[in-house]
Amino acid sequence: VFLHYAFFSYNNDMQTLRDVLRDAEKRKVAIGHFNFSDFAQLWGIVRAAVALKAPVVLGVSEGERGFVGARTAVAIVQSLRKEFRHPIFLNADHTYDLDKVREAAEAGFDAVIFDGAKLPLDENIARTKEAVRIAKKANRTILVEGEIGYIGQSSKVFEALPEGAAINSDDLPTPEQAAELVNKTKVDLLAPAVGNVHGMFKGAPNPNLDIERVRAIRKAARVPLVLHGGSGVRDEDFIGAIKAGISLVHVSTELRVVWREGLDRELEKQPDQIAPYKLFREVVSDVSRQVDEHLRLFGGKAPA
Ligand SMILES: [Zn+2]
Repeated sequence: VFLHYAFFSYNNDMQTLRDVLRDAEKRKVAIGHFNFSDFAQLWGIVRAAVALKAPVVLGVSEGERGFVGARTAVAIVQSLRKEFRHPIFLNADHTYDLDKVREAAEAGFDAVIFDGAKLPLDENIARTKEAVRIAKKANRTILVEGEIGYIGQSSKVFEALPEGAAINSDDLPTPEQAAELVNKTKVDLLAPAVGNVHGMFKGAPNPNLDIERVRAIRKAARVPLVLHGGSGVRDEDFIGAIKAGISLVHVSTELRVVWREGLDRELEKQPDQIAPYKLFREVVSDVSRQVDEHLRLFGGKAPA
């Protein structure tokens, strides 16, 4: 299944996120998006992406930005991009507050998500349109992503589905609704609910994705599609969704789990250790292995 796609290739470090997404769509592969809020996650993600020569998007949610600092995150990613001459991008993940949209655009993020998925469609459209206006006014090259269909909001391991999440095909957004949101708001990217949920189940895969819905929404919406809630999704679902029109895939919860398990193991192995860089050295490798697996899957490379 892996070798049906072309391998990634890229020319230089000057490509924009828009270029990279367009290229991914042509090749029927997807770019990986991974969240970070500490250096073990950051280096784990970057190490894997650079080694595979795969473009990558780093994400920081409103909460993660509150910890890392929006401007600091931008400075770090710009520095990494130069140092590795590699297409590494930064996304202001799930943003609910229009002031935070402006802050991200002014700080120099490559992309920002305005998440109005929990609102009634009309209100979602009105607020997303305003978010696009605010973001582009502050930074005309920033990409703005809109969300349609509620899929829950937290990146954690759960025992039952997030309340109110749209999973059944009757609850998923229709291609017409997706097209309406894109046409009225002028978002650059769209994340529709297609059976995906944020977070992952304890000991079971997540619900199946509606691949036909992905295909129909991509055709109607005519912008690259983003899949959130990649943790716990089956490999064959990823492959089907990417072939059907997903160009960017978000994975967060799984990396958090790997980070935490690695940290627990190292604390046990090094009970007297007080140097963070020694405690986290192997955690970086753990995160990197997980990211490597995802990037290979999304990019059509053979597993290691
Ligand atoms: Zn998400």
